[in-house]
Amino acid sequence: MKRILVTGGAGFLGSHLCERLLKEGNEVICLDNYFTGTKKNIVHLLNEPYFELVRHDVTMPYFIEVDEIYNLACPASPVHYQFNPIKTIKTSVMGAINMLGLAKRVKARILQASTSEVYGDPEIHPQPESYWGNVNPIGPRSCYDEGKRCAETLFMDYHTQNAVDIKIVRIFNTYGPRMHPHDGRVVSNFIVQALKGEDLTIYGDGSQTRSFQYVTDLIDGMIRMMHTPRGFLGPVNIGNQNEFTIAELAANIIELTGSSSRIVYKKLPKDDPKMRQPDTSLARHELEGWECKVQLREGLQETISYFDSVLSKNEVFRNV
Ligand code: NAD
Ligand code: UDP
Repeated sequence: MKRILVTGGAGFLGSHLCERLLKEGNEVICLDNYFTGTKKNIVHLLNEPYFELVRHDVTMPYFIEVDEIYNLACPASPVHYQFNPIKTIKTSVMGAINMLGLAKRVKARILQASTSEVYGDPEIHPQPESYWGNVNPIGPRSCYDEGKRCAETLFMDYHTQNAVDIKIVRIFNTYGPRMHPHDGRVVSNFIVQALKGEDLTIYGDGSQTRSFQYVTDLIDGMIRMMHTPRGFLGPVNIGNQNEFTIAELAANIIELTGSSSRIVYKKLPKDDPKMRQPDTSLARHELEGWECKVQLREGLQETISYFDSVLSKNEVFRNV
């Protein structure tokens, strides 16, 4: 049995990761400051004898003895990470330093949840890991993009200078149950709007593309990455290669919910990437047996059921 720390464990992805790691027979410590996460996401794990919940902020050092660390703590949607941009960059950078310091002291293996945002508004399509990106260092998305880029640098430097056993994954748009209903991301926005019979808000003309990965495929990839041989550091793209326009996503959601909602067009936010699609050759080669299994419509159906139950219970999401 391994003792594993998951920072950001009460968030959307973190809660699925905690669940899966417990199921695999590990002891899991879930650390979160509840900025965008919520106890509701992990309440079903609280009676598990090998699950522990810690309220803590990763910008402060944390002392514990663990074998592995998954560093996920960071707001991930533009609405949330732009709410307090200085805190966002502190979370990425100081959080990485604190968790790398911990990994160094206790000789734990540590995995960083990086992002496709390190590619910014990419000029190469699809994006391989070797692409350095096209990021505006002073724009509204910079606190997140540059924070995550700096965290990758820190991971590499702690590895080179202090032999810390690191892994980096670059996560592409991921969706599924336990996404925050008000996080402003396109999948949650459209589903909530469709279920409430409100207009679906397409930003721009809807021709921009994203590749949507279902959460279980991502968690599978992250765990496989953690188990790769010591010398393999990444970064590795983990995402679904099937690319859709935002207009296609809206049409699918309207059809699957049977909603009578209409589509309205709003201004495209500044620095909004026009295209995003991962090149996943490296992941398929290095993460033995990994591939995305869940098709968009199947994953959307699960996510729609989740939001349907959240909305019908009229649950209150207190954060932000
Ligand atoms: P999320 O907002 O649901 O989860 C982030 C969690 O981190 C929340 O529970 C939040 O309360 C916690 N947190 C934030 N700041 C913290 C701090 N200072 N100290 C402790 N905890 C803190 O978002 P998510 O979608 O689950 O994303 C998890 C990670 O994956 C993030 O690092 C994000 O950048 C990365 N990622 C996600 C996606 C995606 O599509 N969901 C894509 C790329 C990268
Ligand atoms: N988007 C949209 N309507 C919404 C929310 C988002 O058209 O209600 C667009 C957004 O402009 C972007 C895409 O959907 O082009 C994905 O946005 P999201 O915030 O989900 O993720 P990211 O831009 O970080 O990939």
